[in-house]
Amino acid sequence: MMKLQDLLQTLSAAEKALQLGYEKADPLTGAFSQKRVVHAGLQGCPVPAGQAQAIWQQVMERPPAEKTERSAYIHIPFCQTKCLYCGFFQNAANQAAEDRYIDCLVRELEADADQPYLKEGPIHAVFIGGGTPTSLSPHNARLLLQAIRRCLPLANDYELTLEGRCHDLIPAKMDVWLDNGVNRVSLGVQSFHTQIRRQLGRVDDQETVLRRLAALKAYQQCSVIVDLIYGLPDQDMQAWEEDLRILADSAVDGMDLYQLNVFEGSDLDQRILAGTMSPAASTAQQARMFAFAQEFVAKRNFSRLSMCHWQRNNRERSLYNTLAKRGGAIFPFGCGAGGNAGGYSTMLHRALQPYENMVMGGLKPFMVLIEQAPLQSVINSILDQLERGCLDLQPLIKADERLAELKWLYDLWEQRGLVHYDGVVYRLTVAGQFWQVNIAQTTVECVQAIVTQEHSIAVQGVAAQDRKARPPGTKVMPPGHPAMELNPIPGRKKIASGNSSC
Ligand code: SF4
Repeated sequence: MMKLQDLLQTLSAAEKALQLGYEKADPLTGAFSQKRVVHAGLQGCPVPAGQAQAIWQQVMERPPAEKTERSAYIHIPFCQTKCLYCGFFQNAANQAAEDRYIDCLVRELEADADQPYLKEGPIHAVFIGGGTPTSLSPHNARLLLQAIRRCLPLANDYELTLEGRCHDLIPAKMDVWLDNGVNRVSLGVQSFHTQIRRQLGRVDDQETVLRRLAALKAYQQCSVIVDLIYGLPDQDMQAWEEDLRILADSAVDGMDLYQLNVFEGSDLDQRILAGTMSPAASTAQQARMFAFAQEFVAKRNFSRLSMCHWQRNNRERSLYNTLAKRGGAIFPFGCGAGGNAGGYSTMLHRALQPYENMVMGGLKPFMVLIEQAPLQSVINSILDQLERGCLDLQPLIKADERLAELKWLYDLWEQRGLVHYDGVVYRLTVAGQFWQVNIAQTTVECVQAIVTQEHSIAVQGVAAQDRKARPPGTKVMPPGHPAMELNPIPGRKKIASGNSSC
């Protein structure tokens, strides 16, 4: 068997740099040349389309054997407006389309409700994501939430998250959500600065955002989570510090801090290229903003739950995200939803028409069903640990002694300032935390190389904020392209190197 070190010697210099990075005086800004995206399920095997329904039926008709916590992901593929930086926009909101969609979604939930695999074990976390779930009319939100409580066996201490935007925080909507089981609301604020928000397509000014957040908190019925993005056009370090200060002064229970990636050909990229908007921060500048933020929140009353998520108090558990990253069962519902159960991962149709046709025809609306590789549980364990900022190699070596080879990789990264070995686990340094997705993706690829002796590298385009100049004749992707790769978390779109929805 070829050693990992020798396998990596067969790569080109560029491939090696993509995977291992560089030795630099400042690893925070220079350890890698670009951010990568985590592909959690590289070795899965797609099931032939004609067999997907029968295989899924076999999974669903057996009671669950595992005793781990389980979740459901429900997708709402509509937004009232399209934000310039977003890679997730699917459909413009339209009342007739929304009414038809909610009817299908309720049918999909009802069709699975009596399946033993779903009903004979509790569901601990439900995430309604999008798109903009808060954009649903009060009537449709009530229909959906009632169906969720009717069809899913919610655990007593369930978490039910609704994702959305502050613009929707009006009494007519909030009353419905909070009367029908929502106990966590996750809001994309991105920046509190009115001018920075508005040029990105966000609707409300700072005063309105803060007033609406306070109105939601006043119910005292749910935890309130706010997302911010760093590296936006016109958001210098001072503006970023102000964003963090306003967030810390507000009464939110938790926060996500995401790095902006400008995807080539996206609406934001085109505005910047046309000179109608200031450039976004480079990845090196973003690295400094990340380091500043992690020090800022460490000095205040926030505890870190994952690389980009913090809680202020124990109302915030971030249960869905935690369970999803561990690779537990996630039941998917809705157009574009992803999930996994019984050794299979799936993505449901992303386009409304095939999704609706299949649901109305009594079928689970699979776009793809993938049999997970035997390695998947090892990969889930690695991704889960790295999301929490460390890696303990011993359980991995216990599962497969060949994985002791990873020690060489982590010792190399220790020399380069990305991890620190404390005698038990490798802990990510601040630089390692910023480059965590690169570290995770390379680790996954090396695990596969060690076990299969075949080396594959997932290559992504360079984020446009780092582009020096576009060579003449370079092909540009059409405006609004999703620019997203596989979801690292089944069913959930947010990724550390992608742009937050809503
Ligand atoms: S950021 Fe949210 S609201 Fe804006 S287009 Fe994307 S999914 Fe829709």
